[in-house]
Amino acid sequence: MSWFKREDHKIVNDAAKTVRTEGLWIKCGSCNAALFKADLEANLQVCPKCSNHFRFDARSRIANLLEPGYTLVDLELRSTDPLQFTDLKPYKSRLADAQKKTGLNDAIVNATGHIGPHPVVLSAMEYSFIGGSMGAVVGETIARAVDRALAARHPLIIISASGGARMMEGIASLMQLAKISAALAKLDAAGIPYISVMTDPTTGGVTASFAMLGDLNIAEPGALIGFAGPRVIEQTIRQKLPPGFQRSEFLLEHGFLDAIVPRKEMKSYLTQTLTWMTQ
Ligand SMILES: [Zn+2]
Repeated sequence: MSWFKREDHKIVNDAAKTVRTEGLWIKCGSCNAALFKADLEANLQVCPKCSNHFRFDARSRIANLLEPGYTLVDLELRSTDPLQFTDLKPYKSRLADAQKKTGLNDAIVNATGHIGPHPVVLSAMEYSFIGGSMGAVVGETIARAVDRALAARHPLIIISASGGARMMEGIASLMQLAKISAALAKLDAAGIPYISVMTDPTTGGVTASFAMLGDLNIAEPGALIGFAGPRVIEQTIRQKLPPGFQRSEFLLEHGFLDAIVPRKEMKSYLTQTLTWMTQ
């Protein structure tokens, strides 16, 4: 007999989250337009019809923001599976699958380079690697990005895309919140700017630590940003949440964000911002 029994309370699935693909075409989850994949790619994965922001992989983000000649760094770290964790399948095989799918060792890519004339350290999360979850490798890689920013006295930019802490690493995953927050406090004390860019989705332990600690906290339009996700909140309070709850626009209106910046304007926005922040 189970301890808890779920009573019948219907939760409406968010159809906008499902994207159906057929070969060369992709359907926009927001306006239902059939889009040619190559057009979408040329438009930085933003729907040309309704400006819906599709997910964008870490390496494309870096290539889009940094001037040519940038360097990808800290890619060698790999998870040791400290708990020998198995849920539906062993964590080790989840890691192996994700590594094969993304060509990355974990859900993060660090880079050093320039945005316009400004030297920066840029760290971008990869959502397609186990939901961009933050385990010890993500934590250490971000801590290294902070250390690089501190050593070179260059501004730090972190682009978040994450479902939160990585359950398969348990406490080791939770430790990353404190570790990164402590590193960022050193950056703050040294007077080096840190800009947090939140993208869809930024939730859980990532929101609860570095994503909300920026000197400037900005987000892409329509991004889901929160601690517990809307499904968990709905299941807890057993009520349907208001439209737009936990989306960028809602957060801006309630004072959690400094600005919403469309993907295509992100580079010029950051260039301008870094100019006044570093003067
Ligand atoms: Zn659209």
